[in-house]
Amino acid sequence: MAIFVRLPRAVRLEYVPMKSNIRIVLVNTTHPGNIGAAARAMKNMGLTRLYLVQPQGFPCAEATARASGADDLLAHAVVCDSLEQALAGCRFVVGTSARSRRISWPVENPRQCAARMLQECEQGEVALVFGREHSGLSNAELETCHYLVHIPGNPDFSSLNLAAAVQVLSYELMMAHTEQDAGPGEDRRDLAPADEMESFFGHLEQTLVELEFLDANQPRKLMRRLRRLFNRARLDKTEVNILRGVFSAAQGRKLSKKTGR
Ligand code: SAH
Repeated sequence: MAIFVRLPRAVRLEYVPMKSNIRIVLVNTTHPGNIGAAARAMKNMGLTRLYLVQPQGFPCAEATARASGADDLLAHAVVCDSLEQALAGCRFVVGTSARSRRISWPVENPRQCAARMLQECEQGEVALVFGREHSGLSNAELETCHYLVHIPGNPDFSSLNLAAAVQVLSYELMMAHTEQDAGPGEDRRDLAPADEMESFFGHLEQTLVELEFLDANQPRKLMRRLRRLFNRARLDKTEVNILRGVFSAAQGRKLSKKTGR
């Protein structure tokens, strides 16, 4: 008697070249070996664009050794002075956090995050930001991100090795990319990139201080909420220009009140 076994629907396993507009950004990495191992993890999953913000001891033989064949990624790595510089031109930025509730910011798991990043990268540059081995990303750095991703695990031992975290997230990106059969992402607007959003937040803060709405000595709490609000709204370039026009008008009014003109 023949027995028919229902097999799961076939999963596409062929290699689909990865998107080239995904940046992996490592901030202030202490151990060059981790940079090499991260490059290897990326290349295994088809990612190519490595950005290093103030790496300690790079280039370095240990990084090359740990890259073990991914040294082309190290050779092409973009070394930056600041996170802002590394994120210039990015329309979507995800930060990584070893602790799930470090700050109140939208947090996703790696699978959700990979799907969202791939959707966003249909329209432009995206970045995934990793922190320092000892202290992760600062709150200010996390606040430059639209979302955070946390790799779930043992809550009493939640911090992965940096390169291992790069591996997990690169793998999820590769899987989401391979399985992606959806059409192009729905948000086709010309979103303001990270550097423009930083200038926007600077202008907003300055305006609120001048209007005496914000205490210049304690700007963090309100600014954090406002950042969250505007990041959620995903402003496009025109919207940023309109709002900055409003700020300038408010600043002008305040000035003319003061000078009596
Ligand atoms: N002591 C630091 C841990 C940093 S681990 C802290 O508690 O924040 C170094 C980096 O690896 C992190 O900044 C993050 O980029 C990544 N990482 C480690 N574990 C992770 C996790 N569970 N989820 C997401 N990223 C993680």
